[in-house]
Amino acid sequence: MTADGPLSGGNTEHEPGGAAAPAPAEAPREIVFRARGLRKVYRTGQVEIEALRGVDLEVSSGEFVVLLGASGSGKSTLLNILGGLDVPTSGELNWRDHDLARADERELTRFRREHVGFVFQFYNLIASLTARENVALVTDLAQAPMRPEVALELVGLGARMDHFPAQLSGGEQQRVAIARAIAKRPDVLLCDEPTGALDYPTGKVVLDVIARINLELGTTAIVITHNAAIAGMADRVLRLADGRLVSDERNASRLNASELSW
Ligand code: ADP
Ligand code: MG
Repeated sequence: MTADGPLSGGNTEHEPGGAAAPAPAEAPREIVFRARGLRKVYRTGQVEIEALRGVDLEVSSGEFVVLLGASGSGKSTLLNILGGLDVPTSGELNWRDHDLARADERELTRFRREHVGFVFQFYNLIASLTARENVALVTDLAQAPMRPEVALELVGLGARMDHFPAQLSGGEQQRVAIARAIAKRPDVLLCDEPTGALDYPTGKVVLDVIARINLELGTTAIVITHNAAIAGMADRVLRLADGRLVSDERNASRLNASELSW
């Protein structure tokens, strides 16, 4: 594969030259995550907290899913389990034909490394490295990564590659973190409150980047937020309350970040 432009590095096929590519024609979608009766109990001393109380869920490849819910409803727990950072206490969880519920630490590490990009509220960039070097740390470990420059172009930071985190705004730092997450070409991008530390206009820029990655590279994206206004950008909106999935709705069409109002 040649990498002759920022959008050529994807794992889906595109017409050349379509910078603002429309949604790909409805490709047959495959279920990638399948969870059944997912429970997670945290034990701290004598106290047991049931963070997930039986979640059934399917996520298809290429979907953009927004996960809403009040603080403490189990969103991060669910995302961490989907991403192989943690395992459920009981229940079934598969990523394609991988059993994530019974995977050992080695298998989970491999799953994360090969398939998952994470974006968190705080960007976790290394202060002494430039944007390019922060991304290169990850691409050095990946099997068929994008060049760091390509990933940074994709998030709109082509002109900021040699800046250090302290020279970038919060929104720009988060876009470096997104570039780092996508540079290894993950199948799935899991974002836990990616706009939680940003003001709303800046947050929308970051969400727009995530939505474009999802459309242009075909990366499945699951984004946690407690801002319900953002739900309009998604293909699908899940709501968690008290460890249970209480709604699962599909949007008739997706809004651009610029169309959201609050
Ligand atoms: P959310 O992301 O929706 O705010 P979390 O998944 O972080 O919710 O937490 C769900 C519940 O599980 C909360 O009651 C939280 O306090 C508890 N919890 C989360 N992580 C841990 C942990 N590592 N140890 C103990 N309790 C936890
Ligand atoms: Mg959380």
